[in-house]
Amino acid sequence: MPTVKREKLLVIEDEADILEVIEYNLAREGYRVIACREGDEGLRRARRDNPDLVLLDLMLPGTDGVEVCRQLKQDPVTRAVPVIILTAKSEESDVVLGLGVGADDYMTKPFSPRELIARVQAVLRRGPLKVERGAGDRVVRDGLVVDMARHEVLAGGKPIVFTPTEIRLLHFLASHPGRVFDRAHLLSRVIGEDAIVTDRNIDVHVRSIRQKLGEKRELIETVRGVGYRFRDAQST
Ligand code: CA
Repeated sequence: MPTVKREKLLVIEDEADILEVIEYNLAREGYRVIACREGDEGLRRARRDNPDLVLLDLMLPGTDGVEVCRQLKQDPVTRAVPVIILTAKSEESDVVLGLGVGADDYMTKPFSPRELIARVQAVLRRGPLKVERGAGDRVVRDGLVVDMARHEVLAGGKPIVFTPTEIRLLHFLASHPGRVFDRAHLLSRVIGEDAIVTDRNIDVHVRSIRQKLGEKRELIETVRGVGYRFRDAQST
């Protein structure tokens, strides 16, 4: 008998064999699983059953995964529930769409049971996205200190001079290790919706941050075709 975990996971996937494999492996780990085969039912169950995490296939008949994700993230009842989107390799642009409407992570099919469990655990451990910018926030991670209140960044104890935008960007990424953000999301977070900027702008800031970080530069990882993430040392 598996140890019973308290987390309840909602899986929305229309392909019966994939759904069965996911359900089996999650249940074996002790998670409670709610399985749905289509988007509208998934939305209803998400609102009614208060899951801790949603695994969401993007290619669904009827209401597709991107729309389901968008609605989950707009509804105050379900907004804080993390969503992992599931895609085929050929659907890379859908990953960007999914992350753009607030998905927390993604997995590319086919994935191994081990990969599935590791990802689910990592996302549950991170918890919901921090909505507050938290001006007094101080993040300490991998020898890096990002202190918003003091407008200070220390790498290995040594102070580095950053611009306000660079500090906000670094602070936001470091506050959510392991989580991938697309450029549009980063722009809205660190520069603000009112500024006239382009996706390339984020690349310029990231390049400058990496240069200043020196040997800590690899903490900011590029996720090809998607965006950037702060390295999560605890993740597998
Ligand atoms: Ca599908």
